Amino acid sequence: MAQLSDDCFAFGGPMMSVDEAVGLITTRVDAIADIETVAVIDADGRVLARDIAAPLPLPPFTNSAVDGYAVRNADLPESAERAFPLDGRIQAGGLARAPIKAGHTARIFTGAPMPPDAETVFMQEDVRLDEAGRIVLPPGLKPGANVRPAGEDIPQGHVALRAGQRLLPQHVALAAAFGLTRLDVVRRIRVAVFSTGDELASPGEPRATSQLFDSNRFMLMAMLRRLGCEVSDLGILRDERNALADGLKQVAGSHDLILTTGGVSTGEEDHVKAAVESIGSLVLWRMAIKPGRPVAMGIIGGTPLIGLPGNPVASFVTFVHVVRPTVLALAGSLPEPLLPIPVRAAFTYKKKIGRREYVRSSLRRGEDGALEAVKFPREGAGLLSSLVETDGLIELGDDITRVEPGQSVGFLSYADLL
Ligand code: AMP
Ligand code: MG
Repeated sequence: MAQLSDDCFAFGGPMMSVDEAVGLITTRVDAIADIETVAVIDADGRVLARDIAAPLPLPPFTNSAVDGYAVRNADLPESAERAFPLDGRIQAGGLARAPIKAGHTARIFTGAPMPPDAETVFMQEDVRLDEAGRIVLPPGLKPGANVRPAGEDIPQGHVALRAGQRLLPQHVALAAAFGLTRLDVVRRIRVAVFSTGDELASPGEPRATSQLFDSNRFMLMAMLRRLGCEVSDLGILRDERNALADGLKQVAGSHDLILTTGGVSTGEEDHVKAAVESIGSLVLWRMAIKPGRPVAMGIIGGTPLIGLPGNPVASFVTFVHVVRPTVLALAGSLPEPLLPIPVRAAFTYKKKIGRREYVRSSLRRGEDGALEAVKFPREGAGLLSSLVETDGLIELGDDITRVEPGQSVGFLSYADLL
């Protein structure tokens, strides 16, 4: 399990920028060193534990990129077309029986190994047969055309996959292309998830008139799973210091991270801070981010704790900026900065200087075909519909005070956040 020092998340400044938060997390959270081996088919989404150097070149042998006809470079027609007698036929998976004869051409198919001495392939669409049944090749083809040399994709020995890479289907493909069947990956990060609040009922349980069903816990667990975590669903803790402290203490030793939602504001019924302080240490990070409120960062017996705000949208946005980098750091993952793509604003917006804001928006095509962001009409941090009915977040940096229609703004798709 992670073993962090009590003051690991201490922060002196009054307001923390998102960049400062990510910087603090990535420098102060130690990666889990436990490794496990998984089948390549199960490696998608896992964090690679060791560098992988190509055990063979890709492609492993020089082969034809097209269906066509192979010739020696010395025989390439220069200024006029030339007829070649056919000599040999090589299919994908086959081998040429002998080197190609001077002045001859061999029928060859995509992926078939080049015959010895043949260096260039004519596409079958570019040739014709003459009356004698010879293959007539046009002039002007570049030497080496339509051939894929061994190692042109990846030379043997090249470090093609790096430790810390969070594997995507294309990385899985590369491992398979190397002939690997199993990969060493970092074991899944174990996260304990609690909701807090007397007003919450779990779906499936009776709901009192003054209660609402707990949605954050399910959202956060789903987000954690997308980040490759193993999640313990620990239900709802009541707004009571001792009950909270008992619940949190029980899971500290057996998890790498504790995640709570709700109860971290500064009202009298926000007991997470006091509960954590009674069994560990805690700081409230006042982040310069909207939506978002203070985020609690703490340590209980060496295990990090993150307390997210209860409002669903604030919980979602602070997850992205605090929990995501923490999970990636615990897994020893390479940094994966979120890169907003420029789109055109189709809305007006005013904001305060000195904090970063995320505006829930949908994308559409403008009349000229360019992508435009349309702001969700309402702004409440409790509106789940605002997350469900939009495509992503417009990121407005600290210095921005106004957005006017037509202005270029950065868009982060929900699909890219996890
Ligand atoms: P809190 O951060 O505890 O002050 O909660 C702020 C708002 O978020 C309140 O309206 C809560 O009812 C709501 N809330 C807190 N936790 C959850 C949850 N797990 N699911 C849905 N709403 C919540
Ligand atoms: Mg609460």
